[in-house]
Amino acid sequence: MRTRHLFLTSLVLLVVSTGMIGQYTPWMYWTLLPEEIMAEIIGETSGETAWKTIMETGGYNKDRLEDEYESTFYESQYIYEQLKKYGLPGANITRFPGGTVWDGIEGELWEVNPSRQKMASYLDNTAMLVRGSRNADVKTELIWVGQGQKKDLDGLDVKGKIVVTEGGVSQSRPAFDPLQIPWSGIRNRGNDETVSGFAFYLPFREGLFLKQRLLRGEKITVEARVRAEERPYTLQCPECFIPGTDPEAEENIFSAHLFEGYVKQGANDNKSGSAAILEIARTLHRLIESGRIPRPRRTIRFLWGPEFSGTGPWVKANRDLMDKTLCNINLDMVGEWLSLNQAHFCLMRTTGNGSIVRGPVSLTAIPGESSLPSVRTNPSSTALKPITERRIMRCSMTGGFRFPG
Ligand SMILES: [Zn+2]
Repeated sequence: MRTRHLFLTSLVLLVVSTGMIGQYTPWMYWTLLPEEIMAEIIGETSGETAWKTIMETGGYNKDRLEDEYESTFYESQYIYEQLKKYGLPGANITRFPGGTVWDGIEGELWEVNPSRQKMASYLDNTAMLVRGSRNADVKTELIWVGQGQKKDLDGLDVKGKIVVTEGGVSQSRPAFDPLQIPWSGIRNRGNDETVSGFAFYLPFREGLFLKQRLLRGEKITVEARVRAEERPYTLQCPECFIPGTDPEAEENIFSAHLFEGYVKQGANDNKSGSAAILEIARTLHRLIESGRIPRPRRTIRFLWGPEFSGTGPWVKANRDLMDKTLCNINLDMVGEWLSLNQAHFCLMRTTGNGSIVRGPVSLTAIPGESSLPSVRTNPSSTALKPITERRIMRCSMTGGFRFPG
């Protein structure tokens, strides 16, 4: 018995150590920097500090205070305060005109018959109320519509009822967890307030229970109450820089989107990228200021902001800087299993005489992967296709119906 035990132990150790060797790829050591500088950078960089930034800004989905829309979003304020605390030059929140955005206030879904139980609550979890939902106060029956395709709806009378579907409300993302709630929105067309559209998301597991009850022919009555508003907001871009020794030299930018819209505050997408570049800024600034590494020739800029909508106005407002920008490194979704997220370092365009790489060249360096990372060049862009063809498994509840009067 004992021998067998020992044999098993050594087998397990062997498996574990083989796995660990597999996690360290030669790519992770690719650098042009001398070892003494790498030792300073590795020693100073703090994964804990980056993790705390993620937890402070996106550890869970928060219902934003109304004040934030009129003043400063808490993420912008947090980044700005850290930049000030670290003493980074040029710490500022640059603002641009925004627009209006949906803001959930209240969302409750209760089963009232045959039993009385809470099914979903915005207070419990903001992701349960689907973004874009309109005000509602209804008591009605649930009706199962499968995937919600045309063939599923044929012959069903859904008027005045709340349909329950396992089809996607909008986009599809793979489910990793039975309690996961996918995040997406619905769009209400037109301004006709009598067309009241709203939707709740249930976790996959709860959705399965409900599906089974409805397929057994149970009549379930629910009460739904939704309150939401459109609020004006400004685009906010926290920024700072580390000055180089040569003011005439071309510059580099690190960027990450701090906002994925304003309703969702994704820990991975993209508080992780935001936390990573904040930690890069802190590390480099500290090492340079204390003389532990030499000041670089080129100025390095750091930019946070709303995805797409925020970087555009910033670029337009900084044309002179764009002319002397050598390179932009953008970090997005770097906080979760990189291969599952299909996260690649993606070279969009080379520097120098305007040569553009057609299609993505992706360099994958994936800790935890057993295979060696690869350099892929793919002129037809297939290397960066969306996550998987796999259909997402989810259950959701959608209300999209017309109320009389
Ligand atoms: Zn993103």
